[in-house]
Amino acid sequence: MLTSRLPDKVEPYKLAARAEHLEGLVSLDGFVRLAEAVGPQSGDCRVWLDFGVDAQGQREIRGRLEADLQLPCRRCQSPMAQQVESEFHLGMVTSDALAAALPSTHEPVLVENEQLNLLEVIEDELILSLPQVVYHDEADCRVSRDQLSSGVEAEHSVAPAASPFEVLKRLKGKS
Ligand SMILES: [Zn+2]
Repeated sequence: MLTSRLPDKVEPYKLAARAEHLEGLVSLDGFVRLAEAVGPQSGDCRVWLDFGVDAQGQREIRGRLEADLQLPCRRCQSPMAQQVESEFHLGMVTSDALAAALPSTHEPVLVENEQLNLLEVIEDELILSLPQVVYHDEADCRVSRDQLSSGVEAEHSVAPAASPFEVLKRLKGKS
C-alpha cells in the first residue's frame, strides 16, 4: 500500500547513477491536461519508478502506474469508473536531437538543468494509457439503444473518439 507522495521534481541522473527506486502517490486533481481530455478527476495515481543505466549506457526509467479514473461514457457522456494502468520505459535525453537518436525501445523524456518534472511525465503517461472509448453496459447507460435514432449498432452510430495520442499531441501543441 502506497502512502507517500512522489516528489514533483527529481534529479534523474543522480537517481540513475544510484539505481534508485521511487514509489508514491500523485494527486489526480492537479492534472489540468488530463482534465481537459476526460473531465476532472479525484483521488491518486499510484506510481512505481526504477531509475538506472542500461547496458548501452542509456540512463533510463522503468515505470508503472495505476489510477482509478472517471471517464465519460461515449454514449451518454456521464462518467464511469475505469481502472487505467500502464508500464513505460523512458530514456533520458537533454535535447530533441538526442531524443530522435534514442532506440525505439525507449520513450524520450527531456531532462533540463539536471531536473525532471515527474508530474508532467506521469500525466503524459496517464493520457497515453487512456482507453480509446468506454461505454456503460447497456442496462446502466442513460442512453439506451432504443433511444438512438438510427437502426445502426450503437457503437457505430457515435463518432470515433480522438486517440489518446492525438489528444496528447493537440494538448502539447497548445503550451
Ligand atoms: Zn452511458
